[in-house]
Amino acid sequence: MICTRFAPSPTGYLHIGSVRTALYCWLFAKKNGGKFILRVEDTDLERSTQEAVDIILNGMKWLGLSWDEGPYYQTERFDRYHAVISQLLTTGHAYKCYCSKERLEKLREMQILKKVKAKYDYHCRYQQPDNIPADAPYVIRFKNPLEGLVIIEDAIKGKIEIANEELDDLILARTDGSPTYNLSVVVDDADMGITHVLRGDDHINNTPRQINIFHALNFKPPIYGHLPMILAPDGKKLSKRHGAASVLDYKEMGILPHALLNYLARLGWSHGDQEIFSLEELIEFFDTYRINSAPAALNMEKLLWLNQHYIKTNTIDSLLGHVAYHFEKLDLDVSKGPSLKEVILVQKERVKTLKEMAEKSACFYTELAYEQISKEKFLVTQSKKILEVIYHHLTHLENWTKEALHACIQDTIKELGVKMPELAQPLRVAIIGHTTSPAIDSTLWLLGREKTLKRLSQSIQLIVM
Ligand code: GLU
Repeated sequence: MICTRFAPSPTGYLHIGSVRTALYCWLFAKKNGGKFILRVEDTDLERSTQEAVDIILNGMKWLGLSWDEGPYYQTERFDRYHAVISQLLTTGHAYKCYCSKERLEKLREMQILKKVKAKYDYHCRYQQPDNIPADAPYVIRFKNPLEGLVIIEDAIKGKIEIANEELDDLILARTDGSPTYNLSVVVDDADMGITHVLRGDDHINNTPRQINIFHALNFKPPIYGHLPMILAPDGKKLSKRHGAASVLDYKEMGILPHALLNYLARLGWSHGDQEIFSLEELIEFFDTYRINSAPAALNMEKLLWLNQHYIKTNTIDSLLGHVAYHFEKLDLDVSKGPSLKEVILVQKERVKTLKEMAEKSACFYTELAYEQISKEKFLVTQSKKILEVIYHHLTHLENWTKEALHACIQDTIKELGVKMPELAQPLRVAIIGHTTSPAIDSTLWLLGREKTLKRLSQSIQLIVM
């Protein structure tokens, strides 16, 4: 059975590049009727935090990237790693290294001076020191093969060959006995039956080392595929300062999870010219052959375009929960205004993000506050008559429906012989304090009869003749 895994280290935020890796692993598993495992690589006790674990779990849930197994935590598997390390010692694939820090530092300095590759010189591999005190500190090193090639048939980058002499006798266990990344990853990938490892190409140097450990343990290595980086729009390494590195940045921006998934799927992978993909289509069409091996740069405009598409075309019910999040963030009390469904109905054609939807709808839930510039421009003598007439008609309107309001506005501009903006703009300012709002009939409808009439009358009184 095909089995993939996403194995983030909980040392900070969940990087958008990691999310794309997770998505590709998820799609690949789903497409092949396989399994997707979540594994938290928290062996770096100093840098791992519970907060970062929560960010990973919440981010994955928000995106809907559900896992079939896990989350496994590496810190809960130390016994297993220790057992494997002992096994490697017993089978002669690993050895204790007593070299002191000072010796290793000197060695490095010499190698730099001689301009040769800095690597361990196999000192303890060939000769264990005599009379070692029982409590002498040591690390455990892997006996990497000295000759031959490691060949990686990378699913994305193609064939990669590395000579074993380029590789070090890497450390499997530190002086405190804790296992290192390369050891624990191999043990987990083997134990969890991982068949395909898709991960960032920052790990490409680890792959030949891990393959050698797999062989030493008599396990079959998985198929590897290394994904290129995602760059910032400016072509530089995408970091926190770009404000778009963490998956939660996108949630805060008001991006829909599916828009982000669709965007990330296409960033570095393609299926003809198709841009819009349902989840089912992504699962059906995804393959590793069409993953681009060159880094791709983020394009915010395209993401916003996709987001707008999904806001427009998704059902109101499916948007509700996501929109509610942004209302809460703005501290808007939904019980103080129109229902969220009504707001979504009116705004979904008009906004690019859910945050924008909440911001542009705030006026329906807050007290009337005039924007000074709009007040000075529109709540003026020439508008007073217009506002009085519409106020009069609105008070007599039987049904506060969008259709009735539309007809009422149309009748009023005809009656007064004015153009739409001459009525709509002062009316907007009179009832919501500024001029940016949906169509005027929708604005009236959302604000409701009571608030509209109260605010309108209050604003009319403000205008001095
Ligand atoms: N924990 C590693 C990371 O977050 C990933 C390891 C792997 O995918 O093999 O970079």
